[in-house]
Amino acid sequence: MNFEDGQRPPRPTIRALRALPDEPSSDAKRKRLDTARKLIAAKKFDEVELYDLEHSLLDDARDRFRSGAPDQHRAASKAAGRPVYEVRSRTGAAWRGAVVRDDQGDPWLVYVDRHDQFHNRVADALHDLDNLLPRSAEYKLRAREEAAIRHREWRRQIVESVLTGLAEVLRTNTPQLVDLPADPRTGDPGQLELALEHDSPRGTDSLARTLETTDSLATLTIRSIGRDSKSFHTVVQEVVPLLQPDREQIDAAYTRSGDLELWFPVAQAKLAQVLAATLAPAGPTGPEGQVGPLTQSHYVDKPTLTSGVVQGHAVRAVCGFWFVPICEDDNLPICPRCEQQLPVVRKVYELIQAGGSQGH
Ligand SMILES: [Zn+2]
Repeated sequence: MNFEDGQRPPRPTIRALRALPDEPSSDAKRKRLDTARKLIAAKKFDEVELYDLEHSLLDDARDRFRSGAPDQHRAASKAAGRPVYEVRSRTGAAWRGAVVRDDQGDPWLVYVDRHDQFHNRVADALHDLDNLLPRSAEYKLRAREEAAIRHREWRRQIVESVLTGLAEVLRTNTPQLVDLPADPRTGDPGQLELALEHDSPRGTDSLARTLETTDSLATLTIRSIGRDSKSFHTVVQEVVPLLQPDREQIDAAYTRSGDLELWFPVAQAKLAQVLAATLAPAGPTGPEGQVGPLTQSHYVDKPTLTSGVVQGHAVRAVCGFWFVPICEDDNLPICPRCEQQLPVVRKVYELIQAGGSQGH
């Protein structure tokens, strides 16, 4: 999302948010709208998310402004003294909304009404534009949400760069330096080194057993280069639990040069999941399906996996199963349906064998 002046997607003012009709079609959407309203009423502004709020009227406003062709409402524009754009809900009673750009050029949904009333009342309402435009509290709310989105995007990039680096370590069988994107708040960059030490290769039955077992075949070392940065803490918070959910398995020490080093065993199913993420084509998006209990390790594409890790929400696996990527139990075999759609187990096995035989 672009948060430069004049480039933002439309946002509802608090007044418009209160007036939005409930979505008749979706319980999940209704719940989110309800949550946003309650958070504002309770002044819990840090948690309010309006950019992602799904509502047919807001969706239409975003679509029209993204495509650059919003419809101007003539009478309302005349009354407001600046262009007023009409947006339409296509569900239920087909509500209508009025969007205006503020002095910085950013569009705001400032007025909503039922379809049959909208055209009679919108010009009158927009005549009092000053009363409808966002106030400083709304700009503060927006600034907080944008900072939170930037922060989340930064965390997502960190997870992605570490997973990419780990797949590279696996492929090349050499330690990799990973540059971590700078913290948007402090501008603080970070760098770490990833190294995998393979355990000695197993017998020929290993591949056959792979889908049923979760043997640890490798120890991963993550070393923070230089003073430990916020970026590195994010790695520890977000990536390490994905790769090794059991804290007891994680060792940490400072090296003589003052670098922080963590090392822990990584299950073969995790290595397969990481490698699969770099190979999987972008998965379909869409409404969240039924999230089932996690009894197998599934494959997803990298953007999906990283956003699931950072936001803790459910993602759609290659096999169609919905799951939350970070779970307490790491003792899971690989999902055969995922493996069938995206075979990586043999690849991981061969890479590990090559690594093991070259190594110690
Ligand atoms: Zn699966």
